[in-house]
Amino acid sequence: MTLPFQADGRHGRILVVDDQPVNIHALHQILAKEYEVLVATSGEQALELCRKAMPDLVLLDVMMPGMDGLEVCRQLKQHPDTNGISVIFVTAGSLPDEENACWIAGGNDFVNKPVNPLTLRNRVQAHLQFKFQVDALRAMAFADGLTGIANRRYLNEQLDIELRRCGRSRFPLGLLMIDVDFFKKYNDRYGHQAGDDCLKRVASAMAAEMNRPSDLAARYGGEEFVCLLPETDSEGALLIAKRIEAAVRALRIEHLDSAVDSVVTISVGVASIQPERDSSAEALIQRADTALYRAKQMGRGRACLAEEGV
Ligand code: GH3
Ligand code: MG
Ligand code: MG
Repeated sequence: MTLPFQADGRHGRILVVDDQPVNIHALHQILAKEYEVLVATSGEQALELCRKAMPDLVLLDVMMPGMDGLEVCRQLKQHPDTNGISVIFVTAGSLPDEENACWIAGGNDFVNKPVNPLTLRNRVQAHLQFKFQVDALRAMAFADGLTGIANRRYLNEQLDIELRRCGRSRFPLGLLMIDVDFFKKYNDRYGHQAGDDCLKRVASAMAAEMNRPSDLAARYGGEEFVCLLPETDSEGALLIAKRIEAAVRALRIEHLDSAVDSVVTISVGVASIQPERDSSAEALIQRADTALYRAKQMGRGRACLAEEGV
């Protein structure tokens, strides 16, 4: 999973939703020169595009057959993955009740039809600017300062989200607890700066093994990392753990004071649970941590699976 980083120089991706092609065309004309514009002609299609393409902003028609704009907005704002998307309603109605309904549904703004191109452009620009600032702050708040991967705060947030999601959809949730072997000795011999560089390289190697969009590698603290693996059972999680262990060893970072190998190695504790209503993030982490302890006991430089019922 990538953090909500904002690439510099981005102009913004806008989704235009309207059941009338002529309206879509008009908005497209106004915005396509400056922004990437996607289109949807129904509420259902809009929601799907929002999940897949993650636009920064949605221009949303209120009245549409099937799912109307208000319902689309409610669903976007309810879901943690999409509630950061700005929604501007494009509405034909200007009665107070109609306007109020847009605010109540969670809309960020609205413009009246027929749209004034200059007003629309300025509104869009203002909302995008604001959203980019929020994105940048989120990225800063959720990135680990040393390694650039997700920090513990972001991990905790995602862990809660995935526990609930996997619980609802009856998917297992895998978690790896990773600890660099004899890292104190590494610092003692090679210095703290080299230690920091080592952690950066280990973090990158780990992140490179995250294959699915929902997989997450995070720094848990010090020289400890966690990988969150939604929809992954014990067997799958163990496989990824072994791959990460091999990838870190393959970096061939010299560590002559390690009792495991002449290069830096890691130990990995592996756990996977089928989340239930009362499952806690702490319990899953605890299981992985116990398995990590066993990996250390068994000689380090390896992955160990949590025992059933422990
Ligand atoms: P083990 O194989 O049992 O894990 O041994 P260890 O030496 O890795 O374990 P221990 O927890 O005793 O030591 C962890 C060391 O990691 C302590 C500290 O020197 C080092 N460390 C923790 N955070 C950082 C960091 O951000 N940068 C650097 N350079 N070193 C760190
Ligand atoms: Mg440690
Ligand atoms: Mg260690």
